[in-house]
Amino acid sequence: MRRLLKNATIVRPYTATPFLEDGYVVIEGDTISAVGTGVPAEARFDEVIDLEGKIILPGMINAHTHLYSALALGMPPPRKRPVNFPEILAQVWWKLDRALDPESTRASFEAGLLECLRCGVTTVFDHHSSQNFISGSLDLLVETAEKLGMNVSMAFEITDRNGRKRFTSGLNENLSAFNNYQNHKYVHPMLGMHASFTLSDESLKAIRTALEPVAKWGIHIHVAEDKADQEDVHSRGYRSIVDRLQRFDLLNDESLIIHGLYLEPGDVETIKTCGAGLVHNPTSNANNRVGLLANRVINFLEAGLGTDGMQANMLAEAKEGTLIRSSHLEGGAESIDYAKLLFKHNPRIASRLFGHAIGLIAPGYQADLAIYDYRPKTFVNETNLSGHLLFGWGLPTDVMTRGSFQIRNQKFVNVSEEDILSNARIQSERLWQKMETIR
Ligand SMILES: [Zn+2]
Repeated sequence: MRRLLKNATIVRPYTATPFLEDGYVVIEGDTISAVGTGVPAEARFDEVIDLEGKIILPGMINAHTHLYSALALGMPPPRKRPVNFPEILAQVWWKLDRALDPESTRASFEAGLLECLRCGVTTVFDHHSSQNFISGSLDLLVETAEKLGMNVSMAFEITDRNGRKRFTSGLNENLSAFNNYQNHKYVHPMLGMHASFTLSDESLKAIRTALEPVAKWGIHIHVAEDKADQEDVHSRGYRSIVDRLQRFDLLNDESLIIHGLYLEPGDVETIKTCGAGLVHNPTSNANNRVGLLANRVINFLEAGLGTDGMQANMLAEAKEGTLIRSSHLEGGAESIDYAKLLFKHNPRIASRLFGHAIGLIAPGYQADLAIYDYRPKTFVNETNLSGHLLFGWGLPTDVMTRGSFQIRNQKFVNVSEEDILSNARIQSERLWQKMETIR
């Protein structure tokens, strides 16, 4: 199948030609084969789509999220107000992830991924936890992502906090995902670990041993999100969490380190040397009141951008990240270019881990596109693109993945949005009631 999208403005942030007016994109199968201005020389196409001046962005990437929390929107707060990060986990998220069953997990995946696609997000790195529905949960995520034509990286959060049986099931769930999806083009399995402070030395050793026969693996883990994680690792006799992971030989260039607010001196160099990626989640850090990730860490490690389950909209995350940082900075102090995290660092991370080019409108890249009917009130061009992306843009009218429309004129092509949302509302009610019974 050869498709031509013509009469469009093509946005390619952080490239030599970030803004192509009167542009076209040629797509062969699931891949972009040509990008240019005017009309392509060759005129044989199976389908020609006139975008009538709309603007195309690359499908965006969320480098860390938790789809299992998709039904937490509007959830009643815990009876007792949590006073620190460990209490937030214990009173909110560790109740939610034990209350999830197959039906509510499916509804979370469906509603969560639907919302991503609606925001032009076509690749998601998910960190999943449903501690009473472990076996088969990652297959369910892959099945749901496939229905929506999305790229998904999945990992099941292994932890000690629910006993040995669930630890082993969690580990096995990750291992069977490596088995089933190692060579799947649109699926990238990772080894999910909750965090250093909920895993014993014995558990880390068991995980590393279990990975021996796996040809290619990387861990996906929360690191130093809060001081409590750092204090825990010191009490276990390690210099830092990164040091601990290294001693168990768990860090490699396929790994993703999430947060990293309380890294120790030398840790960023270690992460850089081993080639692991770091993902920054500004709205979640603000929500949990854990602090602000330092500029130098973000810049040195070329950090990616995630939402940690806070939202689906990556442009909103970039904007809010900018504002949160500004609220912490002195006048005149340098900030972070969040659009760069989203449009440069995330594509680099996703392309490396999935093993093919993702996240840019250029030949050879997967044809994932978000198409906008953006009518700006000021001129937009390559010099002021970031300002428009963060403060002007809206939602796409059309979203294409693997060269096919998933959303056309604001309507989902392959799924019923109404069915997914009405089921999600029923499941959320059931889920919240079930949480009430968990102590
Ligand atoms: Zn997270």
